[in-house]
Amino acid sequence: MAVERKAKIIRCEFCGQVLEDPMLAFMEHMEASPACRAMWDEWRANVRREAGGT
Ligand SMILES: [Zn+2]
Repeated sequence: MAVERKAKIIRCEFCGQVLEDPMLAFMEHMEASPACRAMWDEWRANVRREAGGT
């Protein structure tokens, strides 16, 4: 029985662009797309705030 292995393809949450490699492509995309980078920074700040509780 063959195990079906789906390629992991993710999309940029911010602009919807397909990123083939979840880690590398995302970092490259963040560098290539200042608008997404800005939204990502904001998203991370929000996550931090929620995690910190303040
Ligand atoms: Zn994007």
